[in-house]
Amino acid sequence: MVMNTEVKELGHFINGKIVAGTSGHFSDVFNPSTGAVIAHVPLATKEEVQSAIMTAQAAFPAWRALSVGKRVEIVMKFRQLMTERIDELIAIICTESGKTVEDAKGEITRGLESVDLAINAPHLLKGEHSVNVGGNINAYSTKVPLGIVAAISPFNFPVMVPLAMTCMAVAVGNCVILKPSERVPCSALFFSELWKEAGLPDGVWTVINGDKDAVNELLENPAIKAISFVGSTPVAEHIYKTGSSYGKRVTALGGGKNNMIVMPDADLEQVANAFLGAAYGAASQRCMAISTIMPVGEDTANNLVKVLADKISKLKVGPYTDPAVDFGPVITKQSKDAIIGYIDRSLDEGATLVCDGRNPNIAEISKGFYLGPTLLDNVKPGMEIYEQEVFGPVRNVVRVDSLEEAIELINAHELGNGVTIFTNNGAAARKFTSEIDVGMVGVNVPIPIPVGYHNFAGWKRSRFGEGHMFGPEHVRFFTKTKTISEKWFEENSESVSTFAFPSN
Ligand code: NAD
Repeated sequence: MVMNTEVKELGHFINGKIVAGTSGHFSDVFNPSTGAVIAHVPLATKEEVQSAIMTAQAAFPAWRALSVGKRVEIVMKFRQLMTERIDELIAIICTESGKTVEDAKGEITRGLESVDLAINAPHLLKGEHSVNVGGNINAYSTKVPLGIVAAISPFNFPVMVPLAMTCMAVAVGNCVILKPSERVPCSALFFSELWKEAGLPDGVWTVINGDKDAVNELLENPAIKAISFVGSTPVAEHIYKTGSSYGKRVTALGGGKNNMIVMPDADLEQVANAFLGAAYGAASQRCMAISTIMPVGEDTANNLVKVLADKISKLKVGPYTDPAVDFGPVITKQSKDAIIGYIDRSLDEGATLVCDGRNPNIAEISKGFYLGPTLLDNVKPGMEIYEQEVFGPVRNVVRVDSLEEAIELINAHELGNGVTIFTNNGAAARKFTSEIDVGMVGVNVPIPIPVGYHNFAGWKRSRFGEGHMFGPEHVRFFTKTKTISEKWFEENSESVSTFAFPSN
C-alpha cells in the first residue's frame, strides 16, 4: 500500500451532504506512521450541532414509519457497498490510525458483525403477545424507536465501534448523529457516502465533527433521547453524569486494565504466543488489550519472563506499508510522550525493565509516533503503571503466589473490562469464572471480545449506565417498549362499567 500525501479539508455530513464547517476552528488529523498532517477536521459550534439535530428531527417521522423490512434492505445495501469498497476502507483505517493492514481487516470483519446483527432487526424487534388476558382482551408489547440518538466514538476503532454504535440504532428506526473522534474522522465520512448510496433518507444519518463543545450540546439538547459513548473512563463518567442529568438514556463504555492469569500447569509457549498479539497488537491501543500478565508461582514467573523476553525482542514495529510489521505507531506524539513518562516513573517506583521500547530503531520513517514493545517486571498494586490504563505498548508482569491472590487483586481494581486465565485445570477455570468481578471473561482465550450476537460491556468503572454494545441488550438500548391492551366489541355485546380496579 502506498501512502497518500494530500491534505484534505473535511466537513460534516448533514441532511445527506457534506457541508463545510463554519466555526473557523479546525483540528489536525495525523498519519501516525509518518507524523504528517493528512486533514483538517472542523470543530462544530453549538449552533451547527443544533441545526444538524433539526434535520434529524425532520427525517424521523418518515423513517420510523417505514417498514422494518424496507429499513433493513438499506442496511443490507450498505453492507454490500462496504464489502465492495473494502480496500478503500482499509486504506483509511491504516492512514488515520496507523494500524497494520491485517489488523484493519480484522476490525472491519468485527464491524460487519454489527451490521449483520442490525440486519436481524425484524426478528429482534418482535414483541410479546398474550391472548385473552381477561374479557376478550389481548395484550401485546412492541419495541419502538427512541427518536434522535447520538453516538460518540473513540480513536482506536474508527470503523468497528461507530458501526456497533449506529447500525442497530438506524435499523430499529432511530435517526443517528455520530460524533467521531477528531483524531480519526475519515472513516465516518466514508460511511456517510455509503449510506447515501445505499438509499438512506437524508437526515437519518448525520456526522458532526468536533470536540467536547459539540459533545456537550449533544448531552444537553432535549431532542437527543439516548447517548451511546465509548472512550476513556474520565470522559465516560462525565458523559454518563451529564447525559443522565438531562434525562437521557446513556451507556458510556470506558477504559480497561485487563489481566491474563497464568497457572503453573499452562503451556508457556502457548501463553506467550497468545499474550504477544493480545498485549501489543494495535500498539496496545485496544480497550480489551492485555495490560498485565499474572504468573502464579515464582517458577512460572521466571520461566514465563524468559520466554516472553525472547519473543518480544523479535517483534517488528513500523508503518502499515510494510507487511512484515507486527504493530504500528501510537496515535499522536503527545500519546507517545505520555507513555514514555509512564515507563520512566514506573522504574522510579521499583518496576524492572525486561524489554525497553522507548527508542525503537525505525530507520525508514523517523517522524512517526513509534514505540517498541516494553515489558516491565515486578510491577505491584499501588504503582501508577498498575493502577492506570496506559494506552500504548508497555505491559506489566505482576507476580502472585496463588489463584486466590490473583482474583483478589483483579476484583479490587477499579476497572473491569476484560480478563482471562490460561490453565488446563477445569476446577481452577471454574473458580475463576465464577468469582471474577469483570464483564468479559476468557478461559484460554486471550481477548474475550464477545461475537456480535452476544452482549459486550465491562463492569465497574469500565462502564457507566446500563446497556451493552452488540447482542440482544443493544436492541433494548435503542428502543422503548409500548404495551397495548386491546379488545374488539362484537355486535350487541354487553358493555359494563366497573369502578373496581380492572383485573382478569
Ligand atoms: P477519549 O475519551 O479521549 O475520547 C472519546 C470521545 O470523547 C471522542 O469523540 C472525543 O472527542 C470525546 N471527548 C474527549 N474529551 C471529552 C470531554 N472532556 N468532553 C466531552 N467529550 C470528550 O478516548 P480516546 O482516547 O479517543 O479512546 C481511547 C479510550 O477509549 C481508551 O480509554 C479505551 O480503553 C477506550 N475504549 C473503550 C472501549 C470499550 O468498549 N470499553 C472500546 C474502545 C475504546
